[in-house]
Amino acid sequence: MNDDNHHQSGGGARDGDNRPPQGAVLCLLAPCYNEEEIIAGSVAEMTAKMAQWKKDGVVAEESFCCFVDDGSADKTWQLLADNVRAPHRALKLAYNSGHQNALLAGILHVAEHCDCSVSIDADLQDDLDAVPEMMRARANGADVVYGVRSSRESDSFFKRNTAALFYKLSAAMGVPGLAHHADFRLLSRKAMRALSAFDERHLYLRGLLPSLKLPSAKVEYARRPRAGGETKYPPGKMLLLAFNGITSFSIMPLRLIALMGFLISAASLAAGLYFFVSKIFYGGEWAQGWASLIVSLYFLGGVILLALGIIGEYVGKIFIESKKRPLFVVERALDNWQKTPQNAKKV
Ligand code: UDP
Ligand code: MG
Repeated sequence: MNDDNHHQSGGGARDGDNRPPQGAVLCLLAPCYNEEEIIAGSVAEMTAKMAQWKKDGVVAEESFCCFVDDGSADKTWQLLADNVRAPHRALKLAYNSGHQNALLAGILHVAEHCDCSVSIDADLQDDLDAVPEMMRARANGADVVYGVRSSRESDSFFKRNTAALFYKLSAAMGVPGLAHHADFRLLSRKAMRALSAFDERHLYLRGLLPSLKLPSAKVEYARRPRAGGETKYPPGKMLLLAFNGITSFSIMPLRLIALMGFLISAASLAAGLYFFVSKIFYGGEWAQGWASLIVSLYFLGGVILLALGIIGEYVGKIFIESKKRPLFVVERALDNWQKTPQNAKKV
């Protein structure tokens, strides 16, 4: 376990949650979209693992699995209804809301009924056997435990390389996130409650959770190939998620426009000066009117871009304000009040 953001010593998890760190109530949460080929197998595997963890004392007796059907068009819900038995639960969304929204729906649905949740893709490509280690990290005080892939061998060449490019690009744009972490993670109740204070439309949990800066830890695991069915993230959807990740967290693209405008207009001014000096002092020869035309064309182009970039700065501010993100997240409080506010009031 690598816990570089992990600021506190053991026992921290006791603060927000009234359960002891060992044997906390876990909800294993899986969003499912058109997973009829594999869902019955996944339900069986997840519930069997849960029973094992209860036996081993890794999780409390009240722990359960929760499946969120993200508006599937196939038999997924029917299969869930047939296979999911108490104490496990299932939730059906009315329409396909997307992986991130389905995850949030699940988290908000279970937050008050468990001490922590672990989200995992329904195809079980992520390693369930990493969960006990996540629980140990939580017991040591981590509110967020990220599952990080130790290798991407099960991914296609295309996915591996586009993912690497995306991590680099988003880091350069200042988007918070961890390389090789998708949505396999543990959240303490404190982290789940903190999430509920964000009500933005374009949800990007992979960036949002690191931005909470709650004590965190990482657990490495090897990712398996899909057991069956097709990926629900074809390249178009993947690109959209990546684009959403960057544009939900960064106004850098708008700033780049201003920077480009500044560079172009400065370069065209320098070129104008060069044309002028070489014409007057060195007798430079160009077609009549060429230099003035070119310089004014680029200069104006640059000024327009610069102006767009400046407008972009204001649009960026509106964008950030419109998200109404909480101004702070309380990590812990030393007081005896019954209720400690988890989040800032929304402004
Ligand atoms: N998923 C979802 N809604 C969607 C797309 C996907 O709930 O609109 C679920 C899907 O059922 C799976 C998880 O999100 O449990 C991740 O999808 P997938 O495994 O297809 O992605 P990949 O592993 O190929 O990136
Ligand atoms: Mg998958």
